[in-house]
Amino acid sequence: MGGLCLITGASSGIGAAVARMAAARGYDVAIIYHSNRAGAEAVAADVRAAGQTALLCPGDVATPEGVAAIFAQIDSHGAPLTALVNNAGVVDLPARVTEMTHARLRRMFDINVIGAILVAKEAVLRMQDRGGAIVNISSAAARLGSGGQYVDYAASKAAIDIFTKGLSDEVAASGIRVNAIRPGLIDTEIHAKGGLPDRAQKLAHMVPMKRTGTAEEVAEAVLWLMSDAAAYVTGAVLDVSGGR
Ligand code: NAP
Repeated sequence: MGGLCLITGASSGIGAAVARMAAARGYDVAIIYHSNRAGAEAVAADVRAAGQTALLCPGDVATPEGVAAIFAQIDSHGAPLTALVNNAGVVDLPARVTEMTHARLRRMFDINVIGAILVAKEAVLRMQDRGGAIVNISSAAARLGSGGQYVDYAASKAAIDIFTKGLSDEVAASGIRVNAIRPGLIDTEIHAKGGLPDRAQKLAHMVPMKRTGTAEEVAEAVLWLMSDAAAYVTGAVLDVSGGR
């Protein structure tokens, strides 16, 4: 497909892997990050080394102002947006529902759900005349529930699954395909940010394939859903989880 691909949360982990792979496959990449400028700059250097344009866009997807700032940077670049990877997301410390505060729930849903919907809204407004592809990053947690660990996170990702279906129906006639991926236990920094640096390794025995996945293995599925090879695929949610 090629063109400009916007990736939220591209400063590390799955988003960074998608950005590098997208550049290798001929996309220019808008690298959206929140706090990790060094990580975003390293990804941008790799995108440019692959011969593609890299836009470095700071912005907080959790606020309307942050989303507006992201798209102001995209619009000033001028190139049409062909793909969006709605990847920015957070977990929190392990907790039972009886321990969860309103502030925790607000943060989780502002970033993982409202942020993803607002970013998709702005992308659709820019794609509806030409078509495009949106890939939302959900989680196997949306099926598993994550009881005793982070039910709020699981609920936020279940919202992404059904948002994917509903939005795909709304925009199919405009040539925009909307799909989601549910990664399983992927070896990234998100587990350390949730206070459990070795979470993925410790739970690997529960995966039928008996190992964690890599960010690159998720990126391969994202790139396929973005590509014309998936031209008849929309409203789908694809597990990339080693069978779990
Ligand atoms: P990660 O390395 O922690 O990456 C998270 C990314 O989200 C970072 O680039 C971060 O940016 C960005 N982000 C966080 N809050 C943001 C905000 N308010 N505004 C804009 N960007 C924000 O984790 P990851 O594992 O790659 O996760 C990527 C996605 O995959 C998430 O949606 C996650 O829920 C999902 N997922 C991961 C796994 C797994 O096992 N790793 C499994 C299932 C689903 P900064 O660092 O620049 O702030």
